[in-house]
Amino acid sequence: VKHVYAFGKKTDGNSKMKTLLGGKGANLAEMAAIGLPVPPGFTITTEVCTHFSQTKGKYPAGLDAQVKAAVKQVEKEQGKLFGSKTDPLLFSVRSGARESMPGMMDTILNLGLNDKTVVALAKKSGNERFAWDCYRRFIQMYGDVVMGVQPRNDTEHEPFDVVMDKLKKELKIENDADLSAKNLQELVKRYKALIKQRTKKSFPQDAYDQLWGAVSAVFGSWNNERAVIYRQKYNIPSEWGTAVNVQAMVFGNMGDDCATGVAFTRDPANGEKVFYGEYLINAQGEDVVAGVRTPKPIAQLADEMPHAHKELEVVRKKLEKHFRDMQDFEFTVESNTLYMLQTRNGKRTGLAAVRIAVEMNKERLMTEKVALSKIPAESIDSLLVPIFDPKAEAASKAIAAGLPAGPGAASGHIVFSASTAEREVKAGRKVILCRVETSPEDLKGMLASEGILTSRGGVSSHAALVARQLGKVCICGASTVKIDYEKKTLIAGKTLLKEGDFISINGTSGEIFAGAIDTTDSEVKRVLEGNLKPSKSYTYRLFSTVMGWADKYRKMKVRTNADTPEMAVSAIAFGAEGIGLCRTEHMFFEGDRIDYMRQMILAGDEKERRSALKKLLPFQRKDFSGLFKAMKGLPVTIRLLDPPLHEFLPHDDTTRHQLATKLGVSRETINERMKALHEENPMLGHRGCRLGVSYPEITEMQARAIFEAAASVMKLKKPIKVSPEIMIPLVGFQAELKDQVEIVHRVAKEVMAAKKVKIAYTVGTMIEIPRAAITADEIAEVAEFFSFGTNDLTQTTLGLSRDDMGGFFDDYRNKEIFNQNPFASLDQDGVGKLVEMAAEKGRSVKKNLKLGICGEHGGDPASIKFFNSVGLNYVSCSPPRVPVARLAAAQAAL
Ligand code: ADP
Ligand code: MG
Ligand code: MG
Repeated sequence: VKHVYAFGKKTDGNSKMKTLLGGKGANLAEMAAIGLPVPPGFTITTEVCTHFSQTKGKYPAGLDAQVKAAVKQVEKEQGKLFGSKTDPLLFSVRSGARESMPGMMDTILNLGLNDKTVVALAKKSGNERFAWDCYRRFIQMYGDVVMGVQPRNDTEHEPFDVVMDKLKKELKIENDADLSAKNLQELVKRYKALIKQRTKKSFPQDAYDQLWGAVSAVFGSWNNERAVIYRQKYNIPSEWGTAVNVQAMVFGNMGDDCATGVAFTRDPANGEKVFYGEYLINAQGEDVVAGVRTPKPIAQLADEMPHAHKELEVVRKKLEKHFRDMQDFEFTVESNTLYMLQTRNGKRTGLAAVRIAVEMNKERLMTEKVALSKIPAESIDSLLVPIFDPKAEAASKAIAAGLPAGPGAASGHIVFSASTAEREVKAGRKVILCRVETSPEDLKGMLASEGILTSRGGVSSHAALVARQLGKVCICGASTVKIDYEKKTLIAGKTLLKEGDFISINGTSGEIFAGAIDTTDSEVKRVLEGNLKPSKSYTYRLFSTVMGWADKYRKMKVRTNADTPEMAVSAIAFGAEGIGLCRTEHMFFEGDRIDYMRQMILAGDEKERRSALKKLLPFQRKDFSGLFKAMKGLPVTIRLLDPPLHEFLPHDDTTRHQLATKLGVSRETINERMKALHEENPMLGHRGCRLGVSYPEITEMQARAIFEAAASVMKLKKPIKVSPEIMIPLVGFQAELKDQVEIVHRVAKEVMAAKKVKIAYTVGTMIEIPRAAITADEIAEVAEFFSFGTNDLTQTTLGLSRDDMGGFFDDYRNKEIFNQNPFASLDQDGVGKLVEMAAEKGRSVKKNLKLGICGEHGGDPASIKFFNSVGLNYVSCSPPRVPVARLAAAQAAL
């Protein structure tokens, strides 16, 4: 088996081989193949990682020989020998999974240096300081990543940094750059002593020992805590594994004609077509992102290294033309010669994703379909998220500004550590995490925060990276902001803010404000609601282009879950094509209605119940006609009463007593009826169609309200077409559905005769009990449509109460029993099977049976993809999710 793939003059792989070579390895091969200047090297496959994990640290047979041969090939191309005492070849050892997992696994540079080769490197390069700088960096990285010399607790600093700081203090030196070759030699000595003291082992001198140590560390890091958290967040299966890239070193730290940097072919924060990035002169590796020195914007390279800058511009165009997407790449300039170290499709904010797709399509770099597929469905949301109220923002004075790294507006209490952020958010507060800089350890706290603010670090800093991926509002590198972790203060100019104070950040402009600022609707929303001219908003034009594509390619309709005319109107503005779920019970909580509702529930007999229902009828009728008018002829699915009745009853004594007075009954009567209604397990109790079976008059009243409302809007001066779809909830048996359907038909006939109109209506059912899915063919004989109620179907299939899952959900996530929340994203293997089966069985009886879904899952892209694959006619989701669902439905159909 081939375990090792070369890149360089001899290149075995290409960009299509990401599964085997990881993203970095595959793209290094591709860049080498299209003639970009890539230092030669080789990739050890992800299959070796899987083998390594499964055998707890063993390698497959033959790997050793293949690695040796690959090293030989690089030696040949570079004209240097690995471990040579005259002209040593040095390597970088880098991880690289199928999808980039930034910051998750550490890179080791300058591998191959030891006490002898460092002398050779000094001689060969004629730069002693440089050689010792490489060596001390290597020992530091190797000691940390491979030998595990790390802080032992939260308060301890990086042990190598402590040693370095001590030496600098002794020498009265402030900048690393001022350490001489002699000083660095001393540092190397102390680093080695530190390793010895901490690990009881010596720093390895043999080049191959070093190499295998590094390779094992990379493979081992696939299962470190940070990597696992990241995988969970992004649903990356642990089976993927990482590849290891071993690559000849090039040096950005050999002098002032050397540099290292990262760049994007377009702005990853807002998507604008500008060359974007930063670099450091005379630096190596992570210096740019580490925040030790502040990097310079890429434009400045045109002055400092015009030749390299020109080359970079050429590379920028070539990369986009070849990879046909925005690229995020890493480069190093060694003695004025440019080398490419990495490229990948750049992470971007939601806003940037949309803008880049639309503009690259215009530039003919992407077809419509490709452009559509490049926009994560969720990212359309970032064009819709609230912004600061323009008046309120104009009235506030910015106290500082930083780089806008994650668009949107966020306001919250200041916290200075990730753990405080987590704690405060658990306690129900909104926070802005304010840090000098962030690191992978802060991930959980960053996730919890409304927004992130850092005072150091540029566009390639960890904070910016994470904000791009998590869609967080973020400002980074606000260098005039002084953050003091110990005093827990944030100072900007004359403003001093303490932990717990309010702060507001505008991640689109980069401005920072003291205090809380009100938020308001996005531009897109304002256009959709008619409060802003389309021509005044470029974001709106981006939005409408993408939505236009989505509607062109999707097969499924998108409806909305709406209970009120206002919700319906807003959903239609977002593009909803009907109501997939109107929950009638929501209508019963308003104003006086709740009293009549309670009277109905507490009624001692049918007569009393009918008299209460009579009072509810006009309210329901008005609700429905409002909804029909708002929907202007679009289909409306109305679900009859569903929740357990006790949900409507007062649970505190005072309200109960008031109710008794209102209804003119004794407190005892009320208490007794309440006791009688008590259920041990209400979700599985007297609810759904069971209510209608026990109390047919409820179904009657609701049906009457629907048909009378329909008749009334059909008879308006400007008649409105109405096609109500009446939906019976919680059905498990054909007979119980029949029982209810007969009532609906009877009432329909009565109303149509009385009002002399013909109403086109259908009666269907929810499929939300496993028995209904299993007997879907029987159910379909009576039902005219199915709507999958995947919330209840998930609860009943998993035997898992959504409301009681909080106590153990985290354990299930941590043990990777659940890869995701089954109530947020459909459990396709379990619940999905039932959906698929019910769809098939239903259509075996009625070929054109209309199928829809109205659970939370209707707005989840992964679930939408599944629903498309089983051939549902529509998904229904909450109004603000409609654009996401339209886009996801289109992507599912591509
Ligand atoms: P990450 O995946 O975290 O970006 P990389 O493997 O890309 O890690 O390595 C981090 C940095 O190390 C690179 O950006 C580059 O500056 C430096 N580096 C990696 N390989 C080499 C090399 N062969 N020569 C010089 N620098 C390198
Ligand atoms: Mg990199
Ligand atoms: Mg339900």
